[in-house]
Amino acid sequence: MTGILFDIKRFAVHDGPGIRTTVFLKGCPLKCLWCHNPESISPQPCTIEKISRIGEQTFRNDEVVGQLKSVNEVMEILEKEWIFMDESGGGVTFSGGEPLLQHEFLAELLIACKQRGMHTAVDTCGFTSSEVLLKIAPLTDLFLYDLKMMNSEKHKFCTGADNQLILENLQKLVSENYKIRIRIPVIPEINDAPENISEIILFLKSLNGQVEGVDLLPFHNTASGKYKRFEINYTMNETRKPEASVMDAIKKQFEEAGFEVKIGG
Ligand code: SF4
Repeated sequence: MTGILFDIKRFAVHDGPGIRTTVFLKGCPLKCLWCHNPESISPQPCTIEKISRIGEQTFRNDEVVGQLKSVNEVMEILEKEWIFMDESGGGVTFSGGEPLLQHEFLAELLIACKQRGMHTAVDTCGFTSSEVLLKIAPLTDLFLYDLKMMNSEKHKFCTGADNQLILENLQKLVSENYKIRIRIPVIPEINDAPENISEIILFLKSLNGQVEGVDLLPFHNTASGKYKRFEINYTMNETRKPEASVMDAIKKQFEEAGFEVKIGG
């Protein structure tokens, strides 16, 4: 079976425990205003005109984003990283885009990793059918589950979809005792208010089970160059990374509620 990848990152240390190789699958059902990988959203390989400037000169080159790879080809790449995963207690993280969009391909990759003894994590936005999620869950050692905000209308405005399905799916995973770390991208003036954090805490406390911990991912503006190069409209050019004091305050809110929290994942 084949699937479409848009990147593979070696030596990832923020995508789960230990040293990991992160495999980015192409395609996402959401369209977050702050997305760091806008080229990942389309599910198909696409050609993007890349513009670079040297002095007064402008150069335009076509860049293909997305490569068709078989499960065996991906496993050959992962095999070369085994020593680092094994020594560090790491593994493989499947991210995106949204990896569950290619769930059949993902399932085969997870099975192949399991057979090789590799720890697996799936980084998901949770916007998928519960059937798909519950098919993938038993093959996954750890979910990195994104929660952005509790206000559903705002969620729809910021990501293109309301959060009902995302919250329902998280409830299902937690109640079936799957291992989950919550990931919250902290975006100034979008979801960093104490009220939003309190609502997330209340929701997590209301679940019929526990999450492993919470990772706070501070927004950074490194993607703005990418939007510019690819000539994609970007509305967050003026947004800066959150102040350290804001990150610390959010961390404290979670800790006071009894959660294990990391800044940066
Ligand atoms: S869920 Fe992630 S990959 Fe998808 S649009 Fe949002 S930030 Fe981008």
